[in-house]
Amino acid sequence: MALGEFDLIARYFTREARKAALGIGDDCALLAPAAGMQIAVSSDMLVEGRHFLSTVAADRLGHKSLAVNLSDLAACGAKPLAFTLALAMPRVDEAFLEGFSRGLFALADAQGCELVGGDTTQGPLTISITVFGEVPAGVALLRSGARAGDDLYVSGQLGDARLALEVFRGSAGIDAAVVDEVRGAMELPQPRVALGMALRGIARSAIDVSDGLLGDLSHLLRRSAVGATIEVDALPRSAALRRQSIAWQRLCTLAGGDDYELAFSAAPADAGRVAEAAQRAGVAVTRIGRIDPEPGLRLLDAQGATVANDFASFDHFRS
Ligand code: ADP
Ligand code: MG
Repeated sequence: MALGEFDLIARYFTREARKAALGIGDDCALLAPAAGMQIAVSSDMLVEGRHFLSTVAADRLGHKSLAVNLSDLAACGAKPLAFTLALAMPRVDEAFLEGFSRGLFALADAQGCELVGGDTTQGPLTISITVFGEVPAGVALLRSGARAGDDLYVSGQLGDARLALEVFRGSAGIDAAVVDEVRGAMELPQPRVALGMALRGIARSAIDVSDGLLGDLSHLLRRSAVGATIEVDALPRSAALRRQSIAWQRLCTLAGGDDYELAFSAAPADAGRVAEAAQRAGVAVTRIGRIDPEPGLRLLDAQGATVANDFASFDHFRS
């Protein structure tokens, strides 16, 4: 007989509360924030067919569902504390639940973020997570702090997740042999939590790159009332992406989506502190341009020539 709602919660999602004052099983969980801390809160939803392919392994889906949420905490420089999980599934599939919960808890444990509650219902496969983090009051990294003259940076590499997606789509001009090199970027993104925390008091503004660098950066620029110049040939990318055409390289790095890297700005005088923070976090950081006083985004190639900005960024209601 199929497992019921409460048995499946007990079997796959209930564990002893650790940091939380009260975990799963009551009407609310209770968190006990330390004195002087603010609670950072963010939600992200993953819908089958929209955010992931039905063929993805369940453990990777568990990982990614939490990773995309932790990426938002990282962008604010917050330390993960707890999360809730709202799960809709068409039917009870224990092999799926076993893999999903294993991937989910592996990342949760690695990041010290505990599952404290949620909701479970029948419906099209949809995973909605809310994360809670803590950050000393007034210290959170915001989109609104960039200033003209700041250096602009990005962590890790851009574009591999989009490259993997294009292989799965069978897009023309993409070498399908790269799939094994890049599918990890799409299915197992690593949230830059340690980097976000290391950049507290150093970065003046930050955002996580989830919908494509240009689109996400434009949100940051608007909130900061500034513009930017990006050196497109300086954007960090993998060897696999470098083997593709220049057109695909630019599309994937500038408007790829699903990167979950951090884009941030810092005063030029703090370049050494940025490098130190990156080293402490064990993540590469690349300077990709600068913040300008004039609004708008300008793209330059290695020769200093203008690159046309005709890359559409992802928008769920326009694609
Ligand atoms: P209520 O009806 O009061 O909202 P539920 O009966 O839906 O509570 O859930 C019972 C308990 O199980 C609650 O503590 C809830 O947070 C938790 N819970 C439900 N679904 C999940 C899930 N998918 N993951 C973790 N905890 C869950
Ligand atoms: Mg409920």
